[in-house]
Amino acid sequence: MELTIAQKLETLLKLQSIDSQLDELKKLRGDLPEEVRDLEDEVVGFETRINKFRKEIDALDNDINNHRANKKDAEKLIQKYKDQQMNVRNNREFDAIAKELELQELEIQLAEKRLKETEFKIKNKTNEIAEVDQAMQNRKKDLEVKRKELDVLIAESQEDEKKLSVSRDKAASHVEERLINAYNRIRGNAENGLAVVKVKRGACGGCFNIVPHQRQADIKDQKKIIVCEHCGRILADVEDAGLSKK
Ligand SMILES: [Zn+2]
Repeated sequence: MELTIAQKLETLLKLQSIDSQLDELKKLRGDLPEEVRDLEDEVVGFETRINKFRKEIDALDNDINNHRANKKDAEKLIQKYKDQQMNVRNNREFDAIAKELELQELEIQLAEKRLKETEFKIKNKTNEIAEVDQAMQNRKKDLEVKRKELDVLIAESQEDEKKLSVSRDKAASHVEERLINAYNRIRGNAENGLAVVKVKRGACGGCFNIVPHQRQADIKDQKKIIVCEHCGRILADVEDAGLSKK
């Protein structure tokens, strides 16, 4: 059974109302997933930094072992040279060994200096890890809260969305495809997702440009489908407060 123009317009308004509700639901969800993703990225970033610091500490630990080994080697040499010094045959030999001893003393000082520096670096890195870890724990708490919010929202809106989709399909099935396609096209081009609007206080409900009186009368008649001259939206009806239609 073919619908009258008035019935088609009524159906389009219904469709618009359903789609606007669906838009709202998606908008509600639309923000949270992004926030959750951002927080997840942040946590991964923190983990990466901590791992990098840990590797740097491993390398510094390795340096410490090397410096300690160098120190030990120098100490052994000193012991060896001191023994040799006991058995020298002349002053020249004694002086030569004294020079070697001096050199090894310097080696020990150098190793000790480097040990101190490296230990200081490790301490700093360890502090940095603690700071980053604290920040990460805070982000993880935020993430947990946001995830729960999102889960609730998804669960809630899934139900509504399903119901709205069923109503939408039912409404759409009453109108010919050509009109639905036009509706979808206009909706796709409109920033606020409105394809079908009413004339409100003499202006288009979509773009708020004035609709001339004669045109308003034609729209009220609902004998044909009329679009806004300015934005191309379908003007389904005239809403005039206090005045009854026809
Ligand atoms: Zn308009």
